[in-house]
Amino acid sequence: MTAMLRRGWCPTLSTPMPTGDGLLARLTPAGDTIAFDAFDRLCVAARAHGNGIIEVTSRGNIQVRGLSTASTPAFAAAVEPLGIDCRGHQVLTPPLSGLDTDKDLRILALAKVLRAAIEQASFAPHLAAKASIILDDGRALHLDGVVADIRLRAMSDDGETCFHVAVAGDAATAHPLGAVPPARAVECALRLLDVLTAKAPGRRMREALREDGTQPFRAAIDDLLIERQPPQARAPVSAIGIHRLRTQRVAVGLGLPFGHADSEVLRRLIATARNVGAAGLRTAPDRTLLVVDLSPDATPVFVANAGALGFMTEGNDSRRRIVACAGAPICASGQISARALAPTIAQAVELAVAAAPGRGGVIHLSGCAKGCAYPSPARLAVFGRAGACDVFVDGALLETVSVNDLPALLARLASSFSE
Ligand code: SF4
Repeated sequence: MTAMLRRGWCPTLSTPMPTGDGLLARLTPAGDTIAFDAFDRLCVAARAHGNGIIEVTSRGNIQVRGLSTASTPAFAAAVEPLGIDCRGHQVLTPPLSGLDTDKDLRILALAKVLRAAIEQASFAPHLAAKASIILDDGRALHLDGVVADIRLRAMSDDGETCFHVAVAGDAATAHPLGAVPPARAVECALRLLDVLTAKAPGRRMREALREDGTQPFRAAIDDLLIERQPPQARAPVSAIGIHRLRTQRVAVGLGLPFGHADSEVLRRLIATARNVGAAGLRTAPDRTLLVVDLSPDATPVFVANAGALGFMTEGNDSRRRIVACAGAPICASGQISARALAPTIAQAVELAVAAAPGRGGVIHLSGCAKGCAYPSPARLAVFGRAGACDVFVDGALLETVSVNDLPALLARLASSFSE
């Protein structure tokens, strides 16, 4: 399958996508806690019907690899009843919604209502499969770094809550439209999607804005808008680490190195989490799993055990610098083995930046020119081409090197970049 054919394909549980290692199924969690039993059964199914590799994506979706045409129906039959996949279009909520504060906007319920309304809407057949909406209830663990077609961020002004509305981008780049009352948030999103699908059927918001900008979208919600100041920018956050919950218990965020883990390792993680009394799992952006509802006393042992299983337990883990797609041979379009190269590059870069504190930044490693796995342009990016590596700095081709020479070059470049 070519990169062109794959572009825009949104694999689901029932319609997985062909890749180099078989079919890939994607599950979209609804945002609430996934019981350990359900996640364990997903791991068992991933091993029985696929190759046992499970990925958590940069948007917090779950991907299962190595399925076949013959095994997909049995996999779907095993996984559908688990309730992990909410199907439909992606309505993202902050990963600890409902758990981390008493100020509860019932955002998960609102997301459910919005998802159902989208599926029922007359515009649904014309909505791009990858279209996404963020419903942000203003949590500490926010989604400002995640790109979406529509963003609704809750904020309180003089004790009154409203949703600030913006389109096409992350929190820094999206185009603001104004604010709406919470009771009109779903209606607002539906009206915007209606305009989007009328102007640009099957396409994304950023494309729809190219013709007439935000004017048609603002006009569509004009009667819903209320006078409010735009929200303040928030500092970046990482889901990796320990987060206090409103019950005085905690959630522990664990990064999956290079975005994937073996199903057996995940099962061992579940067993460890059960042993310390945790309640379940949530997924989070940036390839992270959140184990929720641990007692603070049990946390150090759990974190140590998760680290021993290979999970990233600290936000400054050097493996986080390398964002790699699957690459060859896992992906049929891969021209270099991006994922297999990632650990060597992470090691080389770690050594180099250890001697240059404050240096580093993200390195995006792509098996081909399509550039999966990292939504925004990284300052330092590598694209595989005919078995060699095109190295780009700030969007410009610097040089083409062999796979063998790549780690040393990236280490040298990374040590000259500020974080
Ligand atoms: S960027 Fe990576 S995952 Fe995407 S098509 Fe190319 S090789 Fe495959």
